[in-house]
Amino acid sequence: MNILVTGAAGFIGSHVIDQLLAQGHRVTGLDNFDPFYSESKKRRNLINAIANTHFQLVQGDIRNNELIDSLFKSISPDAVIHLAARAGVRPSLESPSLYMDVNVTGTTNIFEAARKLKNPPKVIYASSSSVYGDRETAPFRESDQVDSPISPYAASKRACEIIASTFHHLYGLRLTGLRFFTAYGPRNRPDLAIAKFTNLISQNKALPVFGNGSARRDFTYVSDIVSGVISAMDNCNNLHLYNLGNCNPITVLEMIQTISSTLGIDPIIDFQTAQPGDVSQTYADISKANMEIGFNPSTSFSEGIRNYIEWYRRQENT
Ligand code: NAD
Repeated sequence: MNILVTGAAGFIGSHVIDQLLAQGHRVTGLDNFDPFYSESKKRRNLINAIANTHFQLVQGDIRNNELIDSLFKSISPDAVIHLAARAGVRPSLESPSLYMDVNVTGTTNIFEAARKLKNPPKVIYASSSSVYGDRETAPFRESDQVDSPISPYAASKRACEIIASTFHHLYGLRLTGLRFFTAYGPRNRPDLAIAKFTNLISQNKALPVFGNGSARRDFTYVSDIVSGVISAMDNCNNLHLYNLGNCNPITVLEMIQTISSTLGIDPIIDFQTAQPGDVSQTYADISKANMEIGFNPSTSFSEGIRNYIEWYRRQENT
């Protein structure tokens, strides 16, 4: 297939592209190398892809609708995997308009460009577990009410889901939203806790833990996420929404323990007050994704952390 991946140079996008290329697809990657984290890290994520003749990189912004329209016309993709976004819960409290602009306007541009093509592609787009807000009942199901996101980031992702249903209603566009639950692994986004804590523990520095460390996250290994994204693409024929989580939440303290024992260094923990926007738990019910797209995450947290730390050490030595 001929596939367009937005957010190509990011953590999840670069892994998705490597897997699509390994399966023999032709891939165009779009990214604007947004300054949220370093361009050099993002360029490094694409080293394998750039060496493949079935890959081309286009540098551009999803908010630029002329560029998006002409890119869609020129490549006429069979499928679009739309991952470009301003990610991150806490920074979204500082710049809510920016998050709405990139995530909501940018995503609307992608849907609009897709529906205007003679043969509209399937569109798979990234949503987030954060749409579930702060709730006690778990695991979280796609049928749960999700009208109370507690950060601008979460609200922007929920808005994209609603816009997807509008585009499906109006134009019959085939659209699948994927609610990712804290992805981790090699090329981890540097702002996420696993990357930050690995760095700090390695340098014998104190770890800021917001709250008492009992918050739980359903950490999901990136290759499991990638399998889910590709199965979702293969099975996208209508309007769909799936949780892609591990269905096995881990507390922040357990996460720190696993990282520190893998590194062989004791952590120094600095407890701080909980942050606004953070939820107390995420926990995916994945039965729908399992039944409809065969999603079946298989990487245990300890194995995933071992892989991450092997990769981290290789980066440190290059
Ligand atoms: P990432 O920041 O590593 O990747 C996003 C990529 O999008 C970056 O390379 C960035 O340069 C690019 N981008 C940002 N703004 C852009 C714009 N205006 N135009 C074009 N490209 C732009 O993030 P990630 O962790 O790989 O996340 C991928 C997607 O999954 C995002 O939509 C994110 O919201 C979502 N998500 C991620 C997680 C997670 O745990 N990593 C969890 C839930 C949802």
